Amino acid sequence: MLRAVLILVQIAIVVAIAVWLADNPGAVHIEWQDRIIDTSVGVLLAAVALIVVLAVGLYQVLRSVRRAPRAWAERRRGRRRERGYRALTLGMVAVAAGDAEEARRQQRRAEVLLDEPPLNLLLSAQTSQLEGDHEAARKYFTAMLDRPETAFLGQRGLLMQARRDNDHARALQIAEQANRQRPGTPWVLEALFDLQVRNANWSDAELTLESMRRHRLIEKPEMKRRQAVLRIERSRAEAARGNREKALQLAQEAQKLDPALVPAAVDLIHLSREAGNQRRAERVADLSWRRGPHPAVARAVADIHADLTPLERYRRFQKLAKSAPDHPETRLMLAEAAIEAELWGEARSQLAPLLGTNPSARACRLMAEIETGEHGDAAAARSWLTRASEAEPDPVWLCTECGSAAAEWSALCHSCGSFDTLRWRVPEHVPPLTLRPPVLLHETPAISTVEDAAAEGEPPPQGPSEPESVGEDAPPARG
Ligand SMILES: [Zn+2]
Repeated sequence: MLRAVLILVQIAIVVAIAVWLADNPGAVHIEWQDRIIDTSVGVLLAAVALIVVLAVGLYQVLRSVRRAPRAWAERRRGRRRERGYRALTLGMVAVAAGDAEEARRQQRRAEVLLDEPPLNLLLSAQTSQLEGDHEAARKYFTAMLDRPETAFLGQRGLLMQARRDNDHARALQIAEQANRQRPGTPWVLEALFDLQVRNANWSDAELTLESMRRHRLIEKPEMKRRQAVLRIERSRAEAARGNREKALQLAQEAQKLDPALVPAAVDLIHLSREAGNQRRAERVADLSWRRGPHPAVARAVADIHADLTPLERYRRFQKLAKSAPDHPETRLMLAEAAIEAELWGEARSQLAPLLGTNPSARACRLMAEIETGEHGDAAAARSWLTRASEAEPDPVWLCTECGSAAAEWSALCHSCGSFDTLRWRVPEHVPPLTLRPPVLLHETPAISTVEDAAAEGEPPPQGPSEPESVGEDAPPARG
């Protein structure tokens, strides 16, 4: 709109000048080298304007002719660069897709077409990695360290290589360097923390955790949980060195940071008792039981009351049971203590609600102990043991990362080395039929499994030998 108005104004001005010149033609007389020109002012102005336009046009033509070779070279370079970046992109795509051959082909093209050593280095390193040529990849990543724009990326590549080679010392060194170079980078801090815990550098790992908190890379509950786990390990390390006081202090901190963390409570119960503070040991046990009954806590309580008679110990367990009287773990704990004190009726009444359609292996084993202890009934005991072998396995410390089971808790999985992945869970049930020889199915067509037999109200079959303990691949929770 504004443009149109401007054009209109310009036309109006030109028309006004032309009209004014027509009204006031004036006269111009030029005498130059025997020539005489007589004309009006308007014609003279028009001639001057034409000469100016022609001069400008000529200048532009001459300029573009002079610049032509350079412009052509620039266009050629631009097209080359474009093809180079395209090759680079296709190379990266091939790396991501795991196509080593295509990645190498595009990398060679990019190298020829593109004068961008940092990007070429990255693609070369990744292609070498893909081809399994780790030595070449290491060479490229190391070359990347020489350029400020790729140094950090090079460190990342070298760190990944060191971790793949299980060279933890070297990986830790690179991660520390990277952390000094760019503090607060999420992947660096995570890698550093992981390497530190795997090397059992618990205190260093706590510093890294603190750095994560400062850079807001970790949520508060997760931070507290990790701190608690680290302090349990620090406490255990101090206890192993004989620094009981420091160990106790760290265990207290761990338990305060995460009161639901069973190993923290268990360690604190033991350390408090060792320090002569029986009351605190009992208070911690009571608190932990209220939060969630766990056999490890029951075991710790049994340990700190080892000098009592079985009956006195049973009374102590009754006190502990008050905070969660109907919890299955409470019933199992009381049943065990009652068996030890030979209170058979009490033991039976505690187990009775747990012996429904699908009793746990532990409840079945305790019933077997009762049958043997009370009446010396070996047949009934064997029947319960058979049921135990068919029942769902007892919960164990299971690694959520690799699935392996551990009898005792620790910050690191013994199998895969992951940090804080052990959780108290029931391992996957192994169906007994899959492990039985198929011939058994044909021999007893009416009742094919012990579970079927139990469901039909018949006593489980008792062969001449003890049944296979197929369901007991997991270690029992007690003991
Ligand atoms: Zn694991």
